[in-house]
Amino acid sequence: MNKISLPPLPYAAEALAPVMSAEVLTLHHDKHHQAYVDGANKILDKLAEARTANTAIDMKAALKELSFHLGGHELHSIFWQIMRAPQTDNAPDGKISELINQSFGSWQRFQEEFSLAANSVEGSGWAVLFANPAGELLIGQLEKHNLNLYPGYRPLLALDVWEHAYYLDYKNNRAEFVKNFWQIINWPEVAKRLV
Ligand code: MN
Repeated sequence: MNKISLPPLPYAAEALAPVMSAEVLTLHHDKHHQAYVDGANKILDKLAEARTANTAIDMKAALKELSFHLGGHELHSIFWQIMRAPQTDNAPDGKISELINQSFGSWQRFQEEFSLAANSVEGSGWAVLFANPAGELLIGQLEKHNLNLYPGYRPLLALDVWEHAYYLDYKNNRAEFVKNFWQIINWPEVAKRLV
């Protein structure tokens, strides 16, 4: 497997302010995401070295650590893409909007359910909107970066609710961060992930 690398942010550091400050975004991307990239590469190197030398490795421990770091890398890579500068009345349209209505009854109900999922993640984790191959949508909570995954479901939209994602901007008020997040979802980018 090739080395994993940190993808650049698709916008300037101040692009998401005031919902997400340049300081939080820069720290989150340059330090936290980088750490997951480094962590994943370290385990991949360890696996490759053991393979080359044909030596034993604690596979269970290695794969647990790999899933944490690789999960962190993949989710953050989605997270940067599905945000954009704050928009008034930010809402999806087209196919993704139809699927949201089919799966959740209405746009309002989806917003309520997704916000509840994000606000009630225990400790560090994510709220995620998943799609299965039939195009059905399902909300999930991921603990850390990897626990409670739905196998076979593709993440379309991911919201990081680890404290590092909001604490400097919102202190302990996660609900305010989640409420403001609706202004910066890049719906055309979410819709692209359907296909
Ligand atoms: Mn994070």
